[in-house]
Amino acid sequence: MPNYDFDLFVIGGGSGGVRASRMAALAGKRVAIAEEYQFGGTCVIRGCIPKKLFVYAAQYGEDFEDAAGFGWTVPERHFDWTMLVANKDKEIARLSDLYVQNVKKAGVEIFYDRAELNDAHTVHLRKSGKRFTAEHVLIATGGRPSRDALDIPGVEHCISSNEAFYLKNLPRRVIVVGGGYIAVEFAHIFHGLGCDATLVYRGPKVLRGFDEDMRDCLMAEMKKTGLRVLCNRNFTRIDKRRDELFAFTDHNEVLEADTIMLAVGRRPNTDGLGLESAGVGLGKKGEVMVDEFSRSNVPNIFAIGDVTNRLQLTPVAIHDAMCFARTVFENAPTPVDHHLVPTAVFSRPEIASVGRTEERALEAGYAIDIYKSTFRPLKHTLSGRDTRSQFKLVVDAKTERVLGCHIFGFDAAEIIQIVAVALKIGATKTQFDATIALHPTAAEELVTMRGKAYSRAPKAA
Ligand code: FAD
Ligand code: NDP
Repeated sequence: MPNYDFDLFVIGGGSGGVRASRMAALAGKRVAIAEEYQFGGTCVIRGCIPKKLFVYAAQYGEDFEDAAGFGWTVPERHFDWTMLVANKDKEIARLSDLYVQNVKKAGVEIFYDRAELNDAHTVHLRKSGKRFTAEHVLIATGGRPSRDALDIPGVEHCISSNEAFYLKNLPRRVIVVGGGYIAVEFAHIFHGLGCDATLVYRGPKVLRGFDEDMRDCLMAEMKKTGLRVLCNRNFTRIDKRRDELFAFTDHNEVLEADTIMLAVGRRPNTDGLGLESAGVGLGKKGEVMVDEFSRSNVPNIFAIGDVTNRLQLTPVAIHDAMCFARTVFENAPTPVDHHLVPTAVFSRPEIASVGRTEERALEAGYAIDIYKSTFRPLKHTLSGRDTRSQFKLVVDAKTERVLGCHIFGFDAAEIIQIVAVALKIGATKTQFDATIALHPTAAEELVTMRGKAYSRAPKAA
């Protein structure tokens, strides 16, 4: 039996890597972790957490307006971007430090360095030049914004979400390119903070893959709020003259902006990691190919989280980490379970979903009953805001099992978390109906939708 320096070497101190390292160390293993940038990874440093803080900031604009209908007089408003960024940075530093303390407390050895593989058992630290051997290696290096997705002249003038978190000034005119989570969320953030924001998307409707009704609700809402959305557009060129950007579209338009942010997907961080020398198989996007236990084709090398290009969500990376640690260090083989993962887009209002969309249920061969409720939220009867919420259930017509739940509305993300529990234990529509409502809430719609909106038969094979 070779004598390794560590039982486990984790590369990457983000959500997944940190959780795996702590669990392995708490199981009595000798564990090391290397982080090349900041502990906390994408989620804490330039993802979920700072994004959500910006979302809160952006919501105040509407909240101040809505207060008038409830009798409040709000004095002249002023927004200070520099203060928001500084306060956000303080909180992010606190969280990052907490991650480090927790890793240390668990007894993990920390290296602030870039790690690369020399072979399946040898990790090389770039800065210090040190080499360590490990029985197991865990790749938890996450992903980064994809720039090369947009191969046009002038693309170098664009920023990504990474830079958006540190802009010196809030741009007066901003264009966000893409139609996924990040594009939609940042377009709302910029719009909410008072920028002249335009979302430019190559397809007909944003958020491909989400339930069609939710996408329609959001498109309608963006139109009402004045967030400009240009669909079916591709940029052909971006020019920079002094501090101004000019983006040319394939519709012969020229859009002017101070900042253009690309949100056209992310790529796994595997470049230069030495995976080839270790014999690790990669997919088309450079992702580490793994089995249900997160094991690569090299038996002692595992990969979790975004670098595997499965579901790119923080709780998924953490779940992968826990399954990995149980499988390898607790003698309890645990495959990952990516079924019924709730998710939300923090637009205003939010979209939150769990389970199958109407289309996916039909594709999977289910005959389905659809229940839908569209209404004006109580709060906005007095605020006067012209906004609608929608709750939707996709139900298996044969078994009455609820296959999917989709919510467009305020606090949708908070509501869907608990709906996910119900779906996970296989709740039926009858059981939803048997649950007494909590009044007055929006969530009570979930248990009071009696009449079917319509039924649909599965698509022919
Ligand atoms: P990461 O958190 O990316 O961690 C990887 C770490 O590895 C990084 O710290 C990196 O510096 C380090 N690293 C890379 N290479 C090396 C190397 N060679 N040596 C040493 N260290 C290395 N998910 C949600 O669930 N909810 C949200 O609201 C949400 N919002 C998001 C908003 C944005 C703008 C973005 C970009 C992402 C968002 N996500 C959200 C996705 C979420 O952040 C990721 O799914 C999650 O962070 C993945 O965790 P991970 O551990 O796989 O990788
Ligand atoms: P997404 O995969 O969600 O969206 C990428 C978008 O870019 C799509 O609209 C896609 O269009 C478009 N696109 C891709 N290539 C091009 C191109 N060449 N030209 C123009 N448009 C292009 O990625 P994001 O970067 O938004 O986010 C990455 C992941 O991070 C998400 O999938 C999600 O898992 C996670 N995330 C989660 C959040 C949350 O939980 N709230 C928030 C932010 C990120 P098309 O649809 O036509 O292919």
